[in-house]
Amino acid sequence: MVKAATYSSITAGDVRITYLPDGYILFNPTTVFPTTTATDWQLYRNELDDNGQLVGSLGAYLLQTPEQTILIDAGLGPVTYESSRFKCYGGQLLSNLERVELDPADIDIVFFTHMHSDHVNGAVREVNGEPALTFPNARYLVRSAEWHRFDNQPASRASVADALNLLEQRIEFAEEGGFIVPGVRVLATPGHTTGHASLLVTAGKERVIILGDIFHSAVQIEHPEWTNSLDGGDPEQAKVTRRQMLQELAQPATTGVATHVANSVFLKVAATHNGFQLLER
Ligand SMILES: [Zn+2]
Repeated sequence: MVKAATYSSITAGDVRITYLPDGYILFNPTTVFPTTTATDWQLYRNELDDNGQLVGSLGAYLLQTPEQTILIDAGLGPVTYESSRFKCYGGQLLSNLERVELDPADIDIVFFTHMHSDHVNGAVREVNGEPALTFPNARYLVRSAEWHRFDNQPASRASVADALNLLEQRIEFAEEGGFIVPGVRVLATPGHTTGHASLLVTAGKERVIILGDIFHSAVQIEHPEWTNSLDGGDPEQAKVTRRQMLQELAQPATTGVATHVANSVFLKVAATHNGFQLLER
C-alpha cells in the first residue's frame, strides 16, 4: 500500500542526509496532471490511495557534514491546506528533528529549494503570539531569482507573507554553481518556479541530488512530459529540467531525493531503451 515517506537516512561519504517528514499530501491526479485520464492512472493504481488520490510525501531534509548542520526546506508547519489540486497536512517536522537529537537552535543553515508554502512556512512559528523564525541561529539561503520573483507579484506573497517578512533582514543569496558548504553545490533547476534550485552533494564517487519539486510523483520518471499544473513558473521549462535531471539521475552512483514522492524520497533511476524507470526506492 502506497504511503507518504517516513523518517529515513542515507550517507554519502561523511555526509548524512536524513529525511524529516512534516506530514503528507494527497494530490488529485487528473487536476495536477490535467492531460492525463483515468485510463492513464490504471497503470499507476499502486501510487493512488483507496479514494483515487495520488499519495505524496511532505517534509524537509537534514544534511549533516562533519562541520555543518543544514536544513533543506522547512516543511509546511502545523496547518492543513486544502485546494482543488491537493490537500496538505503538516506539523511533524520539529518532532522528527528531535529524533536526530537536534534542537532548532542547532541548525546552521536553512537552504530553500523554492519559496512555496510547503517548503517555507515551517521556518516560521508563533512565539508569544508573534511570528518568529523557527531556526534562530541559522543563515537562510535561496537563489536570488527565487527571492526576487515576488517583487512584482504582491498577490503571490500572501501564502508565505510571514516568512518573507521575517526573512527580509536575514536572507542571503546562493547562486548557481556556488557551494553552500564544501561538496554541496547549487544547481539552477527552473520550471516549477523560475528560481527553483537543486543541490548536488558529491562525496568521492557518490552523488546525491536534492531535487526539490522537479518531481511530485514517481510516475513522472516514466512520464516527464506530463504537464504538471503545480509547475507555476514555466511548465514547458519544467519538462526540459525533468528530462535533464533524469539523465543525471541515471548516471552511476547517483541517488535522487524528491520531496513529494511517496514511499521513499530516495530514488535510483535507470535509463531504458525509450526513457527512464525507477529502480528502487
Ligand atoms: Zn512542494
